[in-house]
Amino acid sequence: MELKCRLRRLRQTPQIRNLVREHTVSVNDLIYPLFVIEGENIKEEIKSMPNIYQYSVDRLDEELQKIKLAGVQAVLLFGIPKVKDEIGSEAWNEEGVVARAIRFIKSKYPELVVIADICLCEYTSHGHCGVIKDGQILNDESLPLLAKMSVTLAKAGADIVAPSDMMDGRIGYIRDALDANNLTNVAIMAYSAKFASAYYGPFRDAAHSAPQFGDRKSYQMDPANAREALRELESDIAEGADYIMVKPALAYLDLVKLAYDSFNYPVVTYNVSGEYAMVKATAKIGLIDEKRIVMENMIAMKRAGAKLIITYHALDVAKWLKEDI
Ligand SMILES: [Zn+2]
Repeated sequence: MELKCRLRRLRQTPQIRNLVREHTVSVNDLIYPLFVIEGENIKEEIKSMPNIYQYSVDRLDEELQKIKLAGVQAVLLFGIPKVKDEIGSEAWNEEGVVARAIRFIKSKYPELVVIADICLCEYTSHGHCGVIKDGQILNDESLPLLAKMSVTLAKAGADIVAPSDMMDGRIGYIRDALDANNLTNVAIMAYSAKFASAYYGPFRDAAHSAPQFGDRKSYQMDPANAREALRELESDIAEGADYIMVKPALAYLDLVKLAYDSFNYPVVTYNVSGEYAMVKATAKIGLIDEKRIVMENMIAMKRAGAKLIITYHALDVAKWLKEDI
C-alpha cells in the first residue's frame, strides 16, 4: 500500500508536536475579573463560583499578591456598593468602591493593567443596565450616566473602560466624554456582541445584579443572531472602540472567529461565570480532568481568534502554564 499522505508524521513525539503547534495560550492573554464590595474586612466566597471571592478594598491585597505572583497582567473590576438607587448614583461616586479599589491598586501595583467594567446594573435598585421609565429601559437617558461612570473611574486610574450595558451609541458617547476630560489615552474595551445568556447565572450572585423585573432581552442580543453581531461589532468600531468583545465565549466561538476574520482589532472573549461553574462542578464530582478541560477551552478560544480571554480560571491557567514549561 502506498499512502501519500501521512499526517501522523507530525505527531510522533512531544517535541515534533511542539514544532507544529499552531496556537498557544500565554499568561499575556489573560484578564482576571475581581469583585470589590463596600465594607471592611470582607472576603466572601461566591457560592456558585468556587474559589472566587468578593473582597473589601482593605482585603484586596491578598488577591493582588496572588495575581502578581501568577504573572497575570490585567484585572477587570466589578463593584458591589452598599447603597443602590433608581439611577445607580454610586457608579460615579469618586469615593465609591471601585474608584477606591483602582486608586489602591495603582498605588501599590502601578504596572497592573486595570480595566473598569462600566454598567449600571450593580448600582441600580432595579438591577437593569440603564435608566427606567414606565417599565422601559431608556437608551439615550442612560448614556450620560455611563459616561460619568467612565470618566470617574478613568480619573481614578483605570487604563481601560469596558462598557457592558449594550445601550446603542454608548461607545461614541463615552469616547467623547473621556476626550473632553483629557483622558485621551484611556482605551475602550467594548462588550460589543453581548448575548442575553443563561451562562451569566452565577455572576448575578457575585455582583448582586439580578434584574428585579423582566429580563435583559431588550438590550442584550438574541443568541440566534450572528449577522446582527457583526453590526454590533461594526458600530462599536465606528464609534471608537479599541478592543471588541464577544460574550459569552464557548457557545459563541463562531462569532469570535467572525470578529477575528472581519476586523483588525484585538478580539476579547469573556469565559463567563456559568462556563466556569460548569467546569468546577463537574470536576468536583470527578467526571472530568479540570486542568485538561480548562486548557482545552483556552486553546479553543485562541484558535477561534481571541487575543484576550477574560476568565475566572486565569490564576490556575497561569500556574499550569509555568508548570508545563
Ligand atoms: Zn449591566
